[in-house]
Amino acid sequence: MPFTPFHFGPGALLHAAAPRQVSFLAFCAANVAIDVESLYNLVNHRHPVHAFFHSYLGATLAALALIGLFPALRRCAARIRLPNPLDWQGLSLRPVVIGAALGAWSHVALDSLMHADIAPLAPWSGRNHLLGIVPLDMLHTACAAAGVLGLLIIGVRSVVATARRGG
Ligand SMILES: [Zn+2]
Repeated sequence: MPFTPFHFGPGALLHAAAPRQVSFLAFCAANVAIDVESLYNLVNHRHPVHAFFHSYLGATLAALALIGLFPALRRCAARIRLPNPLDWQGLSLRPVVIGAALGAWSHVALDSLMHADIAPLAPWSGRNHLLGIVPLDMLHTACAAAGVLGLLIIGVRSVVATARRGG
């Protein structure tokens, strides 16, 4: 999708469903990393805009690169003071692997529904069987609804946990 944050919605819901198994930050990082490709191609007028990293093979490699970066970043964080949003420095490798993989593969799947220039199974096939099977507005609404539902679950869980600690 040209607007990457729509991809974060399903990530918020997956994280809400399994907070210790799925890193939301790794999910989002994989989505952003993959869309760097489309941004680069758009800016440089290159076609297809959605190329190698928008295939399952390319997205898997992008996820593996992020997963490989995680231990190095944690080693850096032990030496120099790095920002720690969503307590990423406290994550183990498992939720990072699951979050990055789900983020990468869901990115290709969702983009395949709406972009004609994607070949998700490249280099083995140039066809995109998912194109157009879901109307665009329904796709955007579903992604946004997943995000709202995920945040709602996280919010309610946080309020319940605070109430239990307080009472
Ligand atoms: Zn994309």
